[in-house]
Order: sequence, then C-alpha cells, then structure tokens
Amino acid sequence: MHNFQYSNPTRVCFGEGQIASLPELIPADSRVLVLYGGGSIKHNGVYDQLVAALAGRDWQEFSGIGANPQYDQLMEAVALVKREGIDFLLAVGGGSVVDGTKFVAAAACYQGEDPWDILKSGAPFERALPLGCVLTLPATGSESNPAAVVSRGDAKLSFYNPLVLPQFAVLDPTTTYSLPPRQVGNGVVDAFVHILEQYLTFPVGGDVQDRLAEGLLQVLIDNGPLALSEPQNYQVRANIMWAASLALNGLIGRGVPHDWSSHAIGHQLTALYGLDHAQSLAVVLPSLLREQSAQKQEKLCQYAKRVWQASREDKALRIEEAIIRTEQFFQQMGVGTRLSDYSLNESCIPAICSNLKRFELTALGEHQDIDPDKVARILSHAL
Ligand code: NAP
Ligand code: FE
Repeated sequence: MHNFQYSNPTRVCFGEGQIASLPELIPADSRVLVLYGGGSIKHNGVYDQLVAALAGRDWQEFSGIGANPQYDQLMEAVALVKREGIDFLLAVGGGSVVDGTKFVAAAACYQGEDPWDILKSGAPFERALPLGCVLTLPATGSESNPAAVVSRGDAKLSFYNPLVLPQFAVLDPTTTYSLPPRQVGNGVVDAFVHILEQYLTFPVGGDVQDRLAEGLLQVLIDNGPLALSEPQNYQVRANIMWAASLALNGLIGRGVPHDWSSHAIGHQLTALYGLDHAQSLAVVLPSLLREQSAQKQEKLCQYAKRVWQASREDKALRIEEAIIRTEQFFQQMGVGTRLSDYSLNESCIPAICSNLKRFELTALGEHQDIDPDKVARILSHAL
C-alpha cells in the first residue's frame, strides 16, 4: 500500500427528512444562494421542504443549471453572488448542480484575470465561498469530494481543490424516487465506473481498498436493477445513495493507483456528441479494459473471480467473461455500451483524439501509456 493522508470533513446527513436539518447546517447570519437545475425539485417536493427549512433566513435562488454545467451560465451566478453579497452557496440537485456550485464558489473569489483559467490550466486559488448540498441523484460522489467538471462549448474540463469540498451533504434517499429510469441507470453506472477506476489498477497490496471496492460493486449489482423495478423501495435507494457517495469520497482510492482514462475519453464523447456522462463511460470502459488487459491482468482476474464468480481456468477467458458481465450489467441498467447505440460510427474517432490532444490529455492511465493512437483502438473496439 502506498503512503497516504485521508481526511473527509464533509458532514453527511443521511436519511428521510434530513432536509429539515438545514437550519443547523447553514450559519444563521448567512446570505444564502440556493442553486438548482431545470425544475425537478419543484415537482418532487424537495423545493417545498427547502422553503420550509429556510423560513426566516436570508436566501435567494439561481435556477436552470443543466446537465454538464456550462461556464457562461455559471458566470451569471457568479455575477449575482457578487452583486448581492452572497456568502453561502447551497446546491440542490444532481452532480451537475453540485459541480457548478463548486465552480461558482471558486470563481466568485478568484483574484486572477479570468476564472476559466481554473479549468483550462489548473490556475490555483486561495479562497472559495463555503458551500453545502442537498443531493437528489446518487452518482458522482461530488457531494463529498473536491472535484468539479464544467463545460464550455466542446471543452469539458475538471478541477480539484479542497476549498470547494461541501461542508455538508444532505442525502435523503426519498428525494431520488422521482428519478427517471435513465438517470437511475446513469447514476449506478457512473458510481460503478468510479470504483473500477480506483480498483482495476496495478496491485500494491491494498487489501482494505480492494475489499471495500468489491463490496460497493456488489451493492450496486444487487440494488441497481431493483431501483428500476421497485422505484419506491427505500432500502434499495438508500444503499445506492450511500454506495455512490463512498465510491468517490476519497476512501477507497487512498494508497492505491488510479486510472481515470475512461473519464478523460468519455468527457470528449459528451463534449462533442452530447452523450450523458454515464453513457460515455459505458462505451469506453469495457473496450479500455480489453485493450489494457495484459497490464491489468492480475486485478482483472481478481475482479472476475470475486465480483462475478467467473471460474474459467484460462485467464484471458475469465477476464473476457468479467468484461462481458460488466457490459451486460450496464445494459441491464438501460445504458448502451456501443457507439452505435448513440448513432455514432468510426467518423467520431479522429475528432475525439484531436480534442484529447487539444487539452493535452495524451498520456492517460496509471502508466501514462494511453496515447491518442491507443484511444483510437479503444474506440474502434466500441463501435
Ligand atoms: P445531472 O446532470 O446532475 O442530472 C441529470 C438530470 O437528472 C437532470 O435533468 C436533472 O433534472 C435530473 N434529476 C436530478 N435529480 C432528480 C430527481 N430527484 N428527480 C428527477 N430528476 C432529477 O446528473 P449527474 O449524473 O448527477 O451529474 C453528471 C455530471 O457530473 C456530469 O457533468 C459529470 O461529468 C459530472 N461528474 C462529476 C464528478 C465529480 O467528482 N465531481 C464525478 C463524475 C461525474 P433537473 O435539472 O430538473 O433537476
Ligand atoms: Fe463520473
């Protein structure tokens, strides 16, 4: 196991009715901006619970943050924050709203010339507004991690900074009952891939990390299909919500190598062709595992045996069985695993490779050996 430091100070308030604890979580004298998406919270009762919890507080709202939050729109929120002297941000929604709010928190305090530099070149910043969130879509782990992904035209870029770690995350599984099946499937697949990108890497003796990862994968395999067939099953929703959070709150990834190449390639599919985030991952990950199966052999064999109970003697056949089972699971969650499922063909491959070059994402993977030629091979396996 590698040396590591671990700290996750986000206070998680988990369970039905927890939105009512917002008054204890937000400092009483704050001037609050509530940021949310396209309106799902107005239909599922979350907005009403919010209004009740914030009664008597000084708060206003910024709505309409869409999937893959857009830089220009977020800069409108930044202008509002500055104009109104806002000093606390509350994100209410899925990963896009939480990520967008993190960017607003950083950009509102940014001292440099252009806040786009935070994303474009990883420009450092020393201050951000405090934020908290009410999560309504279990998927990204953004509710208790320091990462955010923001888009601008055909650029989809991320930044990481502990200053934008939410102070608290309210996770009420009943808020997820209203998710359409497509978003339930997307969420489970995104969380599943987050776990695999920290687990299917060079083995360094991290038994704790491996067993945690395998346990969380099993929870998603057991509960994902049930969330589709029994949308109001509280325990199913609760298990998915907690698993997705633990998948990317830093815990399982400390002390072991990571390989975020499926995310890096997938972001280009979203930026250029509009695939949902999880759809892009379901296309890239299985082909990437096939392309990298030699160097990932040991962990892929372990994954095959422990997670899918694949028992073939021949290692290559066992690994292939695990990858096929993974694809079948994504399909069972309603997420297509081929480019053709999204009406894309080989003509998209050069554009994706050139976008990766444009953003200097040309040495991906735990060994930095995934260059644009390899990406082209990976995508051509996924046609
Ligand atoms: P999302 O883009 O936040 O939301 C997708 C859709 O789900 C929206 O249309 C939203 O509608 C709807 N929705 C959310 N909660 C709902 C509910 N309870 N009931 C009904 N509809 C609901 O989806 P996401 O998968 O959570 O976030 C994806 C983004 O996160 C991508 O940009 C991805 O790149 C990023 N990401 C971030 C991290 C990270 O670590 N920070 C990791 C992975 C991915 P409304 O707008 O109407 O609410
Ligand atoms: Fe993701």
